[in-house]
Amino acid sequence: MAEQPIEKGTVRFKCPNCMKYELTRTAHERKIAAKYTCPACGFTGPN
Ligand SMILES: [Zn+2]
Repeated sequence: MAEQPIEKGTVRFKCPNCMKYELTRTAHERKIAAKYTCPACGFTGPN
């Protein structure tokens, strides 16, 4: 898996549900309120 460059405004945080998987959201994704899904437990945000 290739390392992706971290965009300015990108936030990385642990999954609030399982705390096992680190999720990444870019400024763009936040701007458009894109949903994220934890691949470990299936949790979906942005809540
Ligand atoms: Zn999770």
